[in-house]
Amino acid sequence: MHCPFCSTQETKVIDSRLVAEGHQVRRRRECAECHERFTTFEVAELVMPRVIKRDGSREPFNEDKLRAGLQRALEKRPVSTEKIENCISQIKSSLRATGEREVQSEFVGALIMDALKELDKVAYVRFASVYRSFEDIREFGEEIAKLGD
Ligand SMILES: [Zn+2]
Repeated sequence: MHCPFCSTQETKVIDSRLVAEGHQVRRRRECAECHERFTTFEVAELVMPRVIKRDGSREPFNEDKLRAGLQRALEKRPVSTEKIENCISQIKSSLRATGEREVQSEFVGALIMDALKELDKVAYVRFASVYRSFEDIREFGEEIAKLGD
């Protein structure tokens, strides 16, 4: 690919490794002309099911929105970017594994909650409190108590 710094067509791969549990290839490249280095990520492009929202409207699955939601829930939590990316890969695999062309947004929400429960309990409670909009403080307390086990 072209160098993003000087647009030269000659760039070479100097390192290549699997990341995100083998779902991505990370490549370090170096420009033959200006010698700047940059990183590219390669992922398979696979068709994701569309998401049916609560009002019945459909929208394409949006990975950036998922990432933003996870990052919001995980703000200031000790969870690495790599773990978040693995979590996104897992959720996408689960969605593709349904083999459906459309899935309910609640299904996506449940996948996110399961993933967060494994990843970070504080983030899970944060996400669940927004997503499920707990009816009252008691219900919220019960959910937190369950996490104590
Ligand atoms: Zn260059």
